[in-house]
Amino acid sequence: MFKKIAIFGLIFVLFFSLAGCGTSTTNFNQSQNEVQNATVKSEDGLLKVHFIDVGQGDSIFIESPGGRTMLIDAGVPEMGKKVVDYIKSLGVTKIDILVGTHPHEDHIGGMDRVIESFEIGKFYMPKVTTNTRTFEYVLNAAKNKGLKIDVAKAGVTLDLGHSVSAEMIAPNSSKYDDLNEYSAVIKLAYKSTSFLFTGDAGAESEKEMIERGYDLKSDVLKVGHHGSSTSTTASFLDDVSPKYAVISCGKGNDYGHPHSSTLKKLRNRNIPVYRTDECGTIIASSDGQNISFNVKPGDYTPGQKN
Ligand SMILES: [Zn+2]
Repeated sequence: MFKKIAIFGLIFVLFFSLAGCGTSTTNFNQSQNEVQNATVKSEDGLLKVHFIDVGQGDSIFIESPGGRTMLIDAGVPEMGKKVVDYIKSLGVTKIDILVGTHPHEDHIGGMDRVIESFEIGKFYMPKVTTNTRTFEYVLNAAKNKGLKIDVAKAGVTLDLGHSVSAEMIAPNSSKYDDLNEYSAVIKLAYKSTSFLFTGDAGAESEKEMIERGYDLKSDVLKVGHHGSSTSTTASFLDDVSPKYAVISCGKGNDYGHPHSSTLKKLRNRNIPVYRTDECGTIIASSDGQNISFNVKPGDYTPGQKN
């Protein structure tokens, strides 16, 4: 186990040193300081969205300007410690809202460790079960803590405090063939800036969100399913019309994520793409009017970087 962690650590160091994202130490330190400041209760503070680099998987930590916190997913089991350590390094001891978008290992793998390590406010997962040990670990961790699991579904509103609104806009159905389609999708808005977190929702869920008439328009799109070709349909992308796209995926992953067709769609619309496999952890900060990133977007080289 230790050896495994050590290897992962080494891989991260390599990722970081090879990243062609224009990351600078100064910027990163500055962002860390801003994060600390953001935890101080201030109505004029920043909304911080951390796309934690968990390799192939998702883990997104959000700090509202008023200091409330939300974690969407926790990567694979091996990444649980990294996610916990990262959040602790921000001086955070409580996660007000915890969301497991859907019960796949690359999203809820580290969730048991998160539940054991922090005070948790509310915990949401979609109403679907799977018979994996990972899923069982999460259920047991919640049970041991006396933590109730609320159903993640369209229409659920999340309390992230003053001037921030957060609402689930998927899943819209109670039955799907593909587990990915159960993904909780969250639209987050802070003053005139907005984010859309899509988990691994695919074309079927995207179609439902469009048909339900949700206001999908968002400044930042967390691209669905690690940039897979089964998500990010043209009509969905046009409705979201993001200024920035973020893809959470592992370098050289077995799935070929992100797919070249997804990157092409983004490129054709001139949307800058930030990728965790290229940039490591990506931090987007919003002051309510503008959004800034701690790293620069990658080059458009579909098919060349995989
Ligand atoms: Zn996934």
